[in-house]
Amino acid sequence: MKRILTGDRPTGNLHLGHYIGTLKNRARLQHEYETYLLVADVQCLTTNFDRPEQIKEDIYNVIAGYFAAGIDPQTANIVIQSRIPEIAELTLYYSMIVPMALLKYNPTIKSEIAAGYAKEMTYGFFGYPVNQAADITIFGADLVPVGKDQVPHIELTRKIVRKFNALYGEVLTEPRELLGEVPVLPGLDGREKMSKSLGNAIFLCDDDESIVKKIKSAVTDKSRIHPSDPGHPEVCTVFMYYRAFFPDQVPGIETGCSNAAFGCVACKKRFAENLCAFIKPMRERYFSVRNDHKFLEAAAQRGTARGRELSAATMQAVKRAMKIDYFI
Ligand code: SF4
Repeated sequence: MKRILTGDRPTGNLHLGHYIGTLKNRARLQHEYETYLLVADVQCLTTNFDRPEQIKEDIYNVIAGYFAAGIDPQTANIVIQSRIPEIAELTLYYSMIVPMALLKYNPTIKSEIAAGYAKEMTYGFFGYPVNQAADITIFGADLVPVGKDQVPHIELTRKIVRKFNALYGEVLTEPRELLGEVPVLPGLDGREKMSKSLGNAIFLCDDDESIVKKIKSAVTDKSRIHPSDPGHPEVCTVFMYYRAFFPDQVPGIETGCSNAAFGCVACKKRFAENLCAFIKPMRERYFSVRNDHKFLEAAAQRGTARGRELSAATMQAVKRAMKIDYFI
């Protein structure tokens, strides 16, 4: 079985954008690959260094969210990044051989800086792709499921691996991207991306009342003032949600909206009812474990123990290859 690595920074509860973008896919991949889900708590500090006290709660939130979305912690290995110190060690060794230009001209970093992701341009933020390369290679991952925007990170990892192997010997596995479509769900406010920090998200743990309220507030076709005005579904956020969650209903909504057969209030009400039914089993799974810290910690400990075995073996091989395995 090939090995894959994927994961999240624990920055809050998981939402429908995560579900559509990655979680749904991971729930399937866990049965096809030896799966490692890295809860990147150290990397979370690149942008949240001023609120470390929240990270532990968010780790619980993320693991409960995985469980809600159908990820089985007995099948997929949930690994806590800070519990694998070898990742930090390998990051440091890599940083000796990574030219600055590789980071400076990395298109993902450039766009993240432009989007204001970093409150302050720290050494940790600038170098996080190197840390990511260590995440991937420490576990010897063959594949990394990503969307197009993340491909530069995998390319950077491959460059590091090739340089390392050329310098010190064939030790590291060169990963490939498992390129799939990573659909991006727009936020309720019509902005490009659903995000907790933008306050435009519907969470997997939201109750019916919140879901209905949030859908009522969703941005639709602004040119449609009266129910008798023909609508333009292609510019409507709710229509994009229909596409993502209930594709079988899309033709009816598209025609009905364009012909003004129904108004936005009725259309949203129908969507909200469907969505409440869709989220309900996930919310129930979420709350069945969210406060069961023993369960969540055991899930992480199981995966992390497996991750530690792999990372210890990789570090041993790395040090031997670099000839710094003396005085042990
Ligand atoms: S009728 Fe539905 S699809 Fe059309 S603009 Fe209103 S909410 Fe959007």
